[in-house]
Amino acid sequence: MSRPRRAPRAGDARADRQSKVQAWLDALKGAGLKLTPQRIAIIRVFADDPSHPTAQDLFERLRGDFPTMSFATVYNTLDALASRGLSGELNLGGAARFDPNTDTHHHAVCDACGAVVDIPADPVAPAQASQVRRATGGFVVEREERTYHGLCERCARSGAAAGDASRSRARARRAAPSH
Ligand SMILES: [Zn+2]
Ligand SMILES: [Zn+2]
Repeated sequence: MSRPRRAPRAGDARADRQSKVQAWLDALKGAGLKLTPQRIAIIRVFADDPSHPTAQDLFERLRGDFPTMSFATVYNTLDALASRGLSGELNLGGAARFDPNTDTHHHAVCDACGAVVDIPADPVAPAQASQVRRATGGFVVEREERTYHGLCERCARSGAAAGDASRSRARARRAAPSH
């Protein structure tokens, strides 16, 4: 009788996450930011969050555990990683969305609820890069990010209309405390 095989990458993924978290902590230290319990918690929660959260999203999630934490602490922690190229940052209109996934990938964005889903992708093919180089008179491609717009499975099923996301995000912004 053969035992069900475990996903071969489970251990690797855990090790990857560990070393990514460690690299992020080192980067914060290098940026002159103190490794406070708050910053360590921000990093840990961010590493496990595939939803491409805004700083406000993480601030609200962590506020219960750290009542004295400021929004600025969350923002500058995430920004320190993104500005060093150690995490991704997405601008879809509205507040920046931060992305812990540093593997090459594209995004599918739901125009109704704003959900962002990662799609694994291959690095830019050399033929594609040279086509761009020819078409632009010498542009050197470093990476490619595609964004697919539409409706996530849940919204498609519930009959939501595209365009609801900007309205509900605008409502959230009005309700959020200003900083
Ligand atoms: Zn949706
Ligand atoms: Zn992503």
